[in-house]
Amino acid sequence: FITMGIESSCDETSIALVADGRHILSDVISSQISIHTKFGGVVPEIASRHHLQNINRVMERALEEADITLDEVDLIGVTNGPGLIGALVIGVAAAKALSFARDIPLVGVNHMHGHVSANYLQYEDLEPPFMALIISGGHTNIVEVTDYNTCTVLGGTRDDAAGEAYDKVARVIGLGYPGGPKMDRAAREGNPDAIHFKRVYLEKGSYDFSFSGIKTQVLNYVNQERQKGREINVPDLAASFQQALLDVIIQKTIAAVQERGEKRVVMAGGVSANSHLREQMQAACDANGIRLYRPDPVLCTDNGAMIAAAAYYKYQKKGPDGLDLDAYANLPL
Ligand code: ATP
Ligand code: MG
Ligand code: FE
Repeated sequence: FITMGIESSCDETSIALVADGRHILSDVISSQISIHTKFGGVVPEIASRHHLQNINRVMERALEEADITLDEVDLIGVTNGPGLIGALVIGVAAAKALSFARDIPLVGVNHMHGHVSANYLQYEDLEPPFMALIISGGHTNIVEVTDYNTCTVLGGTRDDAAGEAYDKVARVIGLGYPGGPKMDRAAREGNPDAIHFKRVYLEKGSYDFSFSGIKTQVLNYVNQERQKGREINVPDLAASFQQALLDVIIQKTIAAVQERGEKRVVMAGGVSANSHLREQMQAACDANGIRLYRPDPVLCTDNGAMIAAAAYYKYQKKGPDGLDLDAYANLPL
């Protein structure tokens, strides 16, 4: 059973072919990073235009690399939210056109559910229930995944997402866009104890996050140092900022897993590509007898394969969506 997954919610146009919801036949990712770099972030109108220009070519390449024809595709899954609305509609329109022209069933996929489903591609035997830390450019959530199509949100960010904090701080300290991977690398050379930033845990027992305060602390620190005529040590700053973020994320995730009595937790979303988070989560899970699942970095950031995996399980349970499928900038999990 072959599923085509189509992803265009932000700045990656990606189409994948996946067998039985688990095995990647091809996963073509056309990133627009180099285009948006000169603007310091994703420009929505430019993103839409590039999706439109690229999507047919990406689809052809995905079919070519998987060595199959459209006649062999059994299901089309497409991200229909959340994301940039002008970007989402390109993928949804392409999916609907193909579904209609070729009479292939179609399902809409929640992008965040797609991120979680990347784990089914990485780990062939993984089945719900499990806990998930979803940590990306626009979201930071601790959720309990009770079956393939259901999850309960235990906590989320009250202001910035973790990836957004990385990207904004990277801009402040001159690392540029996309900030996450550059901070990851810079922090390797730095001392996480060099500068103290306050850890924001919120109320006792809360699984919510707040990252806008850390961003402000970094901004204040940078301004202070510059006023005093001192050079900023970028690696130390990157490492110290990052550790303030990771301490809170890891502590809350472990606490939630323990409270729910689960033994397994998966990581999902672009920030779970972060090498420090991966190492430190592994150590924390080992220390607490929890099994950690981490998709390869390429499956953490946006890709079509994760959308195909999610679509496969959604279709089995709920059947197809109609050709009136719409895109939504905000779509709750
Ligand atoms: P969402 O999934 O919430 O809709 P998105 O799709 O834009 O948002 P992703 O593609 O999942 O986000 O992830 C991109 C985010 O991940 C960016 O904020 C980026 O900086 C961050 N990121 C990617 N790699 C790393 C890394 N190695 N370390 C930290 N952050 C990273
Ligand atoms: Mg992206
Ligand atoms: Fe994403």
